[in-house]
This record gives sequence, structure tokens and C-alpha cells, in this order.
Amino acid sequence: MAQSSRKKPNILVSGTPGTGKTTTASLLADATQLRHINVGDLVKEKNLYDGWDDEFECHIINEDLVCDELEDMMEEGGNIVDYHGCDFFPERWFDRVVVLQTDNSVLYDRLSSRGYMGTKLTNNIECEIFQVLLEEAKTCYPEDIVVAMQNDCVDDISRNVTILTEWARSWQPAT
Ligand code: ADP
Ligand code: MN
Repeated sequence: MAQSSRKKPNILVSGTPGTGKTTTASLLADATQLRHINVGDLVKEKNLYDGWDDEFECHIINEDLVCDELEDMMEEGGNIVDYHGCDFFPERWFDRVVVLQTDNSVLYDRLSSRGYMGTKLTNNIECEIFQVLLEEAKTCYPEDIVVAMQNDCVDDISRNVTILTEWARSWQPAT
């Protein structure tokens, strides 16, 4: 079901940790008045996880609980969803899927200053090198709604936010 009654678009901002999802989503929310939903924060606030993954050093989120929590807001429309994965969200939720990408050396520095080390750091750099999130997005959503955007520097982010703001302004509900 691709059609929906929503009057405002839903945008997913995906990408490897550190590619700038939260920064981008937050600037975009300011520019568009759409609602920024940081899924990682929501999971913590509402306890939507099943435990801790020792290998990847992250919460194991409960995907069904997350989708239940988001369903009404997504139905209503006007959301910017900020999350590194996209394969468990219903395809019908999104009008645009943005995958942010960052140069390896820039990403390495960002993740190191966030305190990532060892396997966690390496896994995330590999995730970016192999374009895991872009492939996932292309597998899960129609090709024409998926867009990759480079986010290395300040010029990149302002350009991306401008492009996405224009897109959101000109979005029309399906009739
Ligand atoms: P994510 O939510 O994808 O993990 P963040 O938005 O938290 O990424 O960004 C990670 C780090 O990179 C933050 O310190 C942020 O300030 C910085 N950053 C993000 N985008 C840019 C950019 N375009 N130019 C410079 N620094 C950026
Ligand atoms: Mn984030």
C-alpha cells in the first residue's frame, strides 16, 4: 500500500552512525516545521529494547514495539525519522529515504571523537565503505524515493538541507 491519507510527507534520514543524521534531521526540522523523531532516543526513553548486544555494543531494539510506537504519527505524516537502519519500517511510511554518506577519514575522526574504538569503530567504517545502508535502503524502498547525499563538511549539510526543504515544500499528497 503506497497510497496514504497523510497531508505532509514523511522522510527517513538513514546512514552509518556518524554520517550526520541527527544534525541534518534537526536542521531540516527547523527549516520545515516537520517533527524530528530520533529513534535511538525514543527507544531509550520508552524502553523499546530487548537487551544489550555485547559484540556491537548497542541496545537490541524491539522492532515491533518501535513500529507500534510510531504508527499513529507516521499515519498523520510530517515526520523526519532519524535512524541508522531502515529494513523493519513499513515501506508505506516514507515518501523520501535519504542515506547520508561520509568520506572514510572524516567519519573515522567523527567516530573517534565520539569515543568509538576497536571493533565498534572498524565495524562502522566498514559499514560505510561497503555502503550497507544505501544497499539496505535500495532493497527496502522504491528506487525513485531513495537518495544518497554526501555529508563531509558544512557546505554539504547546508546544501542537503536546502534541497530537502525545497522537496518537502513542493510535496503533494497523492490524490
Ligand atoms: P549521526 O546522528 O548520524 O550519528 P551526528 O549528526 O550526531 O551523526 O553527527 C556526528 C558528528 O559529526 C557530530 O559531531 C556533528 O557535529 C558532526 N557533523 C555532522 N555533519 C557535519 C558536517 N556536515 N560538517 C561537519 N561536521 C558534521
Ligand atoms: Mn544520531
